[in-house]
Amino acid sequence: MDHKSHGLNTLCTHAGELEDSVYKGAVSPLYMSTSYAFEDVEVKRYPRYFNTPNQVALAKKIATLEYGEEALIFGSGMAAVSTALMAFLHKGDHVVFQNTLYGGTSNLVVEEFDKFGIEYSFTVDCKPASFEAEIKENTKVIYIETPSNPLLTITDVQAVAGIAKKHNLVSMIDNTFASPVNQNPIKLGIDIVIHSATKYMGGHSDILAGALISSKEHMDTIFQLAKNFGGSLSDYTVWLLERSIKTMGLRVKAQNKNAGKLAKYLENHPDVARVYYPGLESHPDHELAKEQMKGFGGMLSFELRDGLDADIFQKKLKLIKSSMSLAGVESTILSPSKTSHGLLTPEEREKQGIKDGLLRFSVGIEEKKDLIADIEQALKEVRA
Ligand SMILES: *Cc1c(COP(=O)(O)O)cnc(C)c1O
Repeated sequence: MDHKSHGLNTLCTHAGELEDSVYKGAVSPLYMSTSYAFEDVEVKRYPRYFNTPNQVALAKKIATLEYGEEALIFGSGMAAVSTALMAFLHKGDHVVFQNTLYGGTSNLVVEEFDKFGIEYSFTVDCKPASFEAEIKENTKVIYIETPSNPLLTITDVQAVAGIAKKHNLVSMIDNTFASPVNQNPIKLGIDIVIHSATKYMGGHSDILAGALISSKEHMDTIFQLAKNFGGSLSDYTVWLLERSIKTMGLRVKAQNKNAGKLAKYLENHPDVARVYYPGLESHPDHELAKEQMKGFGGMLSFELRDGLDADIFQKKLKLIKSSMSLAGVESTILSPSKTSHGLLTPEEREKQGIKDGLLRFSVGIEEKKDLIADIEQALKEVRA
């Protein structure tokens, strides 16, 4: 079952599913065993080897959705990120990172890479030429993240993948913000796709998981390290994640639609100074986003006009909860300068264009009119 024979929601629902041959149940049976009798000398089935029935089934679903040959599922997004990087970087190697990275990823790089003797550079911006400018003789990997957090900057995936190929480097993308519903980087030439499945794949703010998708050859390299690092996901959570992904297409399309409408509403609001959403024509990367994405996603950011306190606004919201995470069916909001980017100096934030009053809004599936009513009542309180 693949994209040639079936559409997105069919694949989300059925790709990879296990057949219940005993009871003919509607869903994949859950196999919790950590110990399996030897079938032959070759197959050693064990959860840390990523090869239990449920792990293999879900990996097939995720690989199919991302147009990859194979996938592995991890205990967190960061387990996936760190395993992907460490699988292709050795002592003395160099890696080029996009300047705007998920906080956990930049912590991994800045706090850990020195002790493994791995060199790294960050680009000055997200333009393809800025990635090429950082390539050195010992560069092995280029790593991008688009749309980026929190300003939803768009990196030209095809152009960067082309640069990686030209210089014989492995290209990696954190595709979490887009989800496989909105962006399929392997089709744009990227080697390895990374997901924090905690976000849109899980979608209900109750699962921590990660995934890597690539060719069989690259996944073999990753597996050799992954089984030693031990970051696999428990079968029960694998089974829950399979259930979540069945509705991913429906959820993410609803979130795209809500976010698009809210972005327009906020952009036209006299109390809002600026909105960052790749679906808006005013977004500097709108055309690029249109080319490489199938939908613009459920994430947006905005700044209130001068004189309106973003902290108070956030506190006065009732339906939209202040929360660290994102991509759930429930709408959430946070202040990047106080949370995800709170460890940066004010100068570093300024350089990245992150104002203190910026709010990052993860749009859920609630009714648009209820979300707008909540924003209106909170603005009224702030103006008072
Ligand atoms: C959340 C997130 C991660 C890390 O995932 P965890 O599941 O929290 O380990 C990585 N990249 C992006 C873009 C994220 O949003």
